[in-house]
This record gives sequence, structure tokens and C-alpha cells, in this order.
Amino acid sequence: MARVILVGPPGSGKGTQGDLLQAALGIPKISTGDILRAGVRDKTPLGLEAKRYMDSGNLVPDAVVIGLIEERLQSKAASNGWILDGFPRTIPQAEALDALLAKLSISYDCVICLDAPDEEIVQRMLARGRDDDKEEVIRERLKVYRDKTAPLIEFYDRKGSLQTVNGNRPPEIVSAALKELLQSEQPVS
Ligand code: AMP
Repeated sequence: MARVILVGPPGSGKGTQGDLLQAALGIPKISTGDILRAGVRDKTPLGLEAKRYMDSGNLVPDAVVIGLIEERLQSKAASNGWILDGFPRTIPQAEALDALLAKLSISYDCVICLDAPDEEIVQRMLARGRDDDKEEVIRERLKVYRDKTAPLIEFYDRKGSLQTVNGNRPPEIVSAALKELLQSEQPVS
């Protein structure tokens, strides 16, 4: 049983590491970006609403992603733990998550910040070649990260639940570091 929150800039490896942890721990990775991209692909009302924000590198409104997470965290698949990738991304999202977890009488075990320098991030994302991975959009996403998401680092650090892992290394090295860290982790009260 593990409940893990992955934070960090876009392109820092949260998605890759979330997938590896999902396979290693047998608990679902819940990625708001993946859920939103599936909606865009299937042209659902959610996807159609989200697309214009995603295409410009901006965040989808808090209420939309909070609703998605509420649904997923209460699903049966999530009852043995989860890895959150890309949520929360703003302080109001983090506060909504705290409120939801309190309502469910559970807590997360730890928040892991994967860090990588901007130039490495830009190169990785250009290589990835997704729709929202054009250089102009990448720069905007980094700016949005600094303005809206980076304050979460202090938010979680103040709660004493933040760990930072250097994401600027080969994926298997980062993965080994994450597993080691999770093994030594005690649940947050
Ligand atoms: P990601 O795959 O996590 O990098 O997310 C891709 C895009 O989906 C982001 O640039 C946002 O437009 C949107 N998105 C994903 N997660 C969130 C979130 N928690 N809050 C707001 N927007 C999000």
C-alpha cells in the first residue's frame, strides 16, 4: 500500500517514473494529463473544454481536474493505493486534495519532487513530440509551472512531507532512487 504524489516540472520524468512505480507496486498511476488527453482524443465534452488550455500550455481550470481526481480516488481501483502524476498543480488543487483525503479518512505517504534543469526539460519535451511539445508552448508550460505549481514545493515542505529526487539522470537510476526512498518512508499522520 502506497499513496504517492509526484510533483515537478513538465518533462522531469513524472509520467515515466509513475509508470515504473505502477508496475513495481501494483497500484494505479493517476495522471490528469493522460485523462485529459484521452478526452481530447475521444472528443468528449471534457476533452473539448480542456483542449484550448492544453494547446496553449495553460492549466485546465481547477474545478475540472479536481472533479476528475475525486472520481478516480474514490474508485475501487484506487483502494490499495495510487500514484498521482501531474495533480495537484496549484495550491487550490492541493487544498482540495487534502479535503478529499480527509473526507475519505486517508492520507498520502509522501510527496516526491522530481527536479531537472530547464534546458534538459526543453530538450526532452522536444524529443517527445507531443501536440503540446512545441518550443513556444513548452516555454509557456515552464512559466506556468514556476508561477502556479512551484509554490506547492513550499506547501508540502512546510508539512514535512516533501522529498526531492534528482530527475536529471537515466530513468532506471531515478527509478531505483524512488523505490529506495519509498521503502524507507513512514506514512504522514
Ligand atoms: P501533463 O501530461 O501532466 O504534462 O499535462 C498536460 C496538460 O494537461 C497540462 O499542460 C495542462 O494543460 C493539463 N493538465 C494536466 N494536469 C493538470 C492539472 N492538475 N491542473 C490543470 N491542468 C492540468
